[in-house]
Amino acid sequence: MSKKQKSPLKMTSAEIRQSFLDFFEEHGHTIVPSASLVPGGDQTLLFTNAGMVQFKDVFLGTGTRPYTRAANAQKCMRVAGKHNDLEDVGRDDTHHTYFEMLGNWSFGDYYKKETITWAWQLLTDVWGLPKDKLWATCFEDELGEIPRDDQAAEIWRQQPGFDPEHVLFFGREENFWEMAETGPCGPDSEIHFDRGPEFCNMHDVPGHVCQVNGDCQRYLELWNLVFIQYNRTSATHLDPLPAKHVDTGLGFERLVSVMQDVDSNYKTDLFIPLLQTVQALTGHDDQTLNENLTAYRVIADHGRAAAFLIADGVVPGNVGRNYVCRMIIRRASRFGGKIGLNNPFLANVAETVIEQYGDFYPELVQNRSAILQTITDEERRFQRTLDIGMSHFYTVLEETRAANLDVIPGTSAFDLYATYGLPFEITRDLAQEQGFDTDADGFYAAMEIHKVASSSAMESATRETDDLELYRTVLDDLKAEGKLGKEGVRYDPYTGFEIEGPILALFKNGKQVKSAVVKDRVSVVLPETHFYIEAGGQVADTGAISSVDEPSWKISIEDTREPLEGLILHEGRVVSGTPTVGQQALAAVDETRRWDIMRNHTATHLLHAALRQVLGDRARQAGSLVAPDRLRFDVTHGEPMTQDEIEAVEKQVNEAILDNYELEIRNQPREQAIHKGAMALFGETYGDTVRTVTIGDEGRISYELCGGTHVGETGAIGPFLVVGEGSVAAGIRRIEAVTGRGAQSMIQERMQTLSKMAERLGASVDKLEARLEALLTERDQLTSEIINLRSSEAVSAYQSLQPVDHNGVPVLIGELPNADTDTLRQLTDRFRSENPSGVVVLASVVDGQPILVAAVTKDLVARGLHASELVQNVARVIGGGGGGKPTLAQAGGKDASKLSEALALVHDWVSAKQG
Ligand SMILES: [Zn+2]
Ligand SMILES: [Zn+2]
Repeated sequence: MSKKQKSPLKMTSAEIRQSFLDFFEEHGHTIVPSASLVPGGDQTLLFTNAGMVQFKDVFLGTGTRPYTRAANAQKCMRVAGKHNDLEDVGRDDTHHTYFEMLGNWSFGDYYKKETITWAWQLLTDVWGLPKDKLWATCFEDELGEIPRDDQAAEIWRQQPGFDPEHVLFFGREENFWEMAETGPCGPDSEIHFDRGPEFCNMHDVPGHVCQVNGDCQRYLELWNLVFIQYNRTSATHLDPLPAKHVDTGLGFERLVSVMQDVDSNYKTDLFIPLLQTVQALTGHDDQTLNENLTAYRVIADHGRAAAFLIADGVVPGNVGRNYVCRMIIRRASRFGGKIGLNNPFLANVAETVIEQYGDFYPELVQNRSAILQTITDEERRFQRTLDIGMSHFYTVLEETRAANLDVIPGTSAFDLYATYGLPFEITRDLAQEQGFDTDADGFYAAMEIHKVASSSAMESATRETDDLELYRTVLDDLKAEGKLGKEGVRYDPYTGFEIEGPILALFKNGKQVKSAVVKDRVSVVLPETHFYIEAGGQVADTGAISSVDEPSWKISIEDTREPLEGLILHEGRVVSGTPTVGQQALAAVDETRRWDIMRNHTATHLLHAALRQVLGDRARQAGSLVAPDRLRFDVTHGEPMTQDEIEAVEKQVNEAILDNYELEIRNQPREQAIHKGAMALFGETYGDTVRTVTIGDEGRISYELCGGTHVGETGAIGPFLVVGEGSVAAGIRRIEAVTGRGAQSMIQERMQTLSKMAERLGASVDKLEARLEALLTERDQLTSEIINLRSSEAVSAYQSLQPVDHNGVPVLIGELPNADTDTLRQLTDRFRSENPSGVVVLASVVDGQPILVAAVTKDLVARGLHASELVQNVARVIGGGGGGKPTLAQAGGKDASKLSEALALVHDWVSAKQG
């Protein structure tokens, strides 16, 4: 390797990306825009994580495209679930949450020859990478089931200047690609780049050898060329595909680091401007920057990812993609704090991202204000809870240490998230700094339970159809015009039900409109509202917005929500007239419904307290629903509640209602409220100042953080009835209850039923139970009398039968009315006790079915007359069969009309046996 190598061309990252696309466009490819980071139509995937995601349907044969050759640069995110590399992000040179993939595709068009030839040309001729530093791997099945890809290897060896020794074969793990357990698959060929011995980071490891697919950083995998030529139908069977496809992926960050000849992705022009932005904020010199490299890298990586996520419509939230968005902003914010950035700062990094990437990804520019605002809002929210969250983290850490553990339990990590807003990943970072691990499985299991238990309460206020950018613009304009204050729409669901104000904005089907007509579905913005927005399990208010002046119009409101902080939408349908922006409106909450909701909400607090009393402090709220007609409360508890427990809970709640406690609602500093023992609930975001709801002196009955609406005194709740208790998920019970009018009408219905029963039974309600008891006893007596009557009827019929003599053997046959099998058996026993030798066959019809019982005395059994054989013979006639012992057997059949015919056969059978 002494020969001086040609160096790669010095190009900027933007030039590299463009030259890739240009090259494939020249070769007949359609340049396709990057798909959104949020995969369309693929529920199984959290984020788009490869270029082929948007072409999955073509490979599966369920979709087509107007072109057969495509190329693109694709935005990707890999940060899903518990098995991600997030811990490595910032700590090494190559891991990222967000990254780009360059790719080219053939859909049944060109194949291996063109793919390899073009890759070689692009890498060496266009980009000038030294030919002798490039290696290619091809597929050779270690199980010997799938043919070796000699075709690809041969094409490689034919490339001009390619060292034929640089083709290596690897097995399924490295060189066979599968979409899933079944479906399209095929061999792939990877291109690796030898950065030179100085890039080896494992010199010190004894026995280490630098090699392709080895352990060190000398050989980098650059580009993967996948040849989709099979369809896997089972674990062992591959069918050749009629149309063969090509799918390639070239890691952009890594390519740029090679092209710009640096040893870290963070030293490329993709990241340098981001790091410089952070450095300008901290004022650090280069040495201090290098001493804090991890923090700088995390901030750069996460700031970039957050900007791209928000541009694609993902907002910070509690689950799924929203959780990821929240987590990366908070994690970046926490690392910012470590290098002295205590005020919201991440928007500055996002600003640089927009500048740098905006030309190629215009969605960044289009959503600029949403990106910057969302990031800053989220940082603010996080900083409000960070101090208290950190202090609780240290409490948990001390507990863990005191228990002699070195892993923070997943449930504690989840508490830190649910109550104090510390995402798991931050707890893990903090724990690591103290030499502790954190139980990821436990955390995600706890999160899953809460997701199931409170999925409705945690639904994001933002809907897929929302145009957040439009909302933001409208909100900003209204503020600028002075029609709305700094905080946006004034929200006060606590002090009244009706309010007047002008219509500030109208939306119809997601578009802003000036007016609407009958039947239109609209969203109305007013300066102020008393309508409650769904939160803390309490459903949103409904009601009506109508005109104050002529001409008159009315909109019935079915939902109220806040898709964007400060912008409250009243949503419903125009029922009359033409509501128009600027007209004065009266917004009236459906008061009756709201009172039902308030009763149920206060009752929920009482129920929560009673459950903890009866089941113990480990019973915790795992979700709730406060609706007008019922309330639902999920509680962590391992087993079904007993009837006694349910009654105790019901009694305790009703006592608290009768004691008629006044509710004390206060706003106070959050820390103070928590310190005094207020219960905070999951899925809620709490600011510096929190609203607390106190019932009983000093919260003796209940003390919760709550933004919901409540009755003034507990007496207003009226009766409280538990109507259901059941399981909703492992370890979670669900209690359903009604109050007020719902309980009232239920009680009324039940009372009516009782009255009707009393009337029918001719007794007063309080004598009803005794009357019922007497009736049941009477019924039992009658039943046994009937049985006795029936058997005495059978007995007298039996007594009237006369045996027929067969050579000295008495044979008694007969059909007895109303005799069941037991009676028939008893009577055959009686025959045998009265006759030392003989044969008896008694029959009856029960519910239309003929039955037979036959008995033979022991002396005759010894002579070959078996009762079991007897019943088998005669039962055929009645279309049935039977069996038993030689002395006693029984049979059943279908055709009762043949019973006498069957019985007549007995004589023939006995004669034949005696013959
Ligand atoms: Zn090495
Ligand atoms: Zn509440």
